[in-house]
Amino acid sequence: MKIDVLSLFPDMFSGVFGESILKKATEKQAVQFNVVNFREYAANKHLTVDDYPYGGGAGMVLKAQPIFDAVAALTAQTESVKPRIILLCPQGDRYTQKRAEELAQEEHLIFICGHYEGYDERIREHLVTDEISIGDYVLTGGELGAMVVIDSVVRLLPDVLGNAESHMKDSFSTGMLEHPHYTRPADFRGMMVPEVLMSGNHKHIEEWRTKEALRRTLLRRPDLFEEVELTKEQEKWLVDIKKEYE
Ligand code: SAM
Repeated sequence: MKIDVLSLFPDMFSGVFGESILKKATEKQAVQFNVVNFREYAANKHLTVDDYPYGGGAGMVLKAQPIFDAVAALTAQTESVKPRIILLCPQGDRYTQKRAEELAQEEHLIFICGHYEGYDERIREHLVTDEISIGDYVLTGGELGAMVVIDSVVRLLPDVLGNAESHMKDSFSTGMLEHPHYTRPADFRGMMVPEVLMSGNHKHIEEWRTKEALRRTLLRRPDLFEEVELTKEQEKWLVDIKKEYE
């Protein structure tokens, strides 16, 4: 996968792309990152990328020209592949694991990180394919949002995570929250690990994990049950768990 990022603060990405799974993904050639300062594409003497809003008001607005030209230069390099052009903005679709899974199927993603008061609306209307918000709060710029999306997409690419780090059972991938985890020692200051996890009985362990995933989802994110398809057995377990809280 090729990932281009348009940002006025490209240095912000070096730490994130140079560590942990994203670094490994680059080394395994699963992904190729390219961070571009779109100021380089400003077609004016002072390389300004923002201007005052028409109609007046507070804050500066990112101009259309540098961003349109930067995207054109990036897409010209890979004409055969149609990239997804993603605008980070608090007004976009709220980001989910489902969207991460969908973006992980693409060959080329371009992220546009905003700053200041906002973007010239023509960027939104005529250039981008997706508008993504990472949550109902306002950040200073789109960089942290792009990092969140990129991290969650790249870890889904084939061979990026080892078996031990498999994402198949992660929260949201199953449609529910994940079950609790424990590691050694079995007795930590009198706090015990559930017996079943030390029993060696894989069927019982799987059953316990599924029930605890159901319990955790019920208690913390019952809204997730609106989307997930449970098996008959899981439905029965959920009814039993609900009874415990009546
Ligand atoms: N005035 C804008 C509004 O009210 O919608 C907020 C602009 S914000 C200060 C500057 C930039 O940060 C945005 O253009 C966007 O790129 C990024 N940003 C802020 N909040 C975000 C969020 N929740 N998700 C994704 N990007 C966000």
